[in-house]
Amino acid sequence: MKAIALFSGGLDSTLAMKVIINQGIDVIALYVNIGFGSTKDRREHMESMCRQVGAEFMEIDIRQQFLRDILFSPKHGYGKNFNPCIDCHANMFRIAKEMMSELGASFIVSGEVAGQRPMSQNIRALKTVEELAESDNLLVRPLSAKLLSPSQPELNGWIDREKLLDISGRSREKQLKLADEFGLVDFEPPAGGCLLTEPYFAKKMRDFVKFDKLEVDDIDSLKFGRHFRLKDGAKLIIGRNADDNFGLQNVKSKKFNTLEAVGVKSPFSLISATASEDELQFALRTVLAYTKADIESEYKILFNGGEKEFIVKPCSSREESRKYSL
Ligand code: SF4
Repeated sequence: MKAIALFSGGLDSTLAMKVIINQGIDVIALYVNIGFGSTKDRREHMESMCRQVGAEFMEIDIRQQFLRDILFSPKHGYGKNFNPCIDCHANMFRIAKEMMSELGASFIVSGEVAGQRPMSQNIRALKTVEELAESDNLLVRPLSAKLLSPSQPELNGWIDREKLLDISGRSREKQLKLADEFGLVDFEPPAGGCLLTEPYFAKKMRDFVKFDKLEVDDIDSLKFGRHFRLKDGAKLIIGRNADDNFGLQNVKSKKFNTLEAVGVKSPFSLISATASEDELQFALRTVLAYTKADIESEYKILFNGGEKEFIVKPCSSREESRKYSL
């Protein structure tokens, strides 16, 4: 018997898999990449969690489908920020269900805990998600199963309901105890959800879609840096630290040109390819304002790594740019 588990890399989904594996079921840990998971590459961590419980790791990239079908038109609305959690969960279950026959799996496992999150994990929401996903009662939530009506795998005797759990609420105490019992190490502290649940990220999203259509390659540009919306609508993004600079260097979107000052330690920056001449000049001076450049001196700035070069003085202060800051 085999099951597909929706796996986030977090503790709850790892524990849920282990509870099922302990009943002699093979588990495929399916990480569904919607594009907004994290600013860090967590693959190594996810593989380590899978190794610890004996699950097989698998990743599926649904970014395109998520943008097209879910993110901007969730039937059940958004949580506090830009997070369409109910529709997002249901979409993941639907995808896992579609993959069941191809992977030879008989049911689906999820690490949701009843009452853990106000919008997406109260008992009614868990039911709604199941209905939306048309899961045919093949969805098992091992951590809260005893508080929910029996799933088909329990009714069929594929798994023993008695060995499932009755965890509910926001406290992590029982999960930590279980992690200890299972000998899990290096698990992540509980996270509040993906980037869409974060207020500043949601603000950047709302701003982006006011001016442009969000495409898969644009997503990374929202994950890094300090964001400005300039007077004619161009976007300027300035790296705040080494991680941002690295992240911005790897943005694949063709909607931006890059800026980098020479002769002074410079943040890596992106400016909309559609920026007006005024906006570009302002962006060049603003980038210098976020360095230790001397305000009386001129500096060279490389545009797209040297495709063009500009010689400019910094803005006299960062205040000038703050009114455009998101
Ligand atoms: S937190 Fe993000 S990934 Fe998780 S269900 Fe909500 S929208 Fe989807």
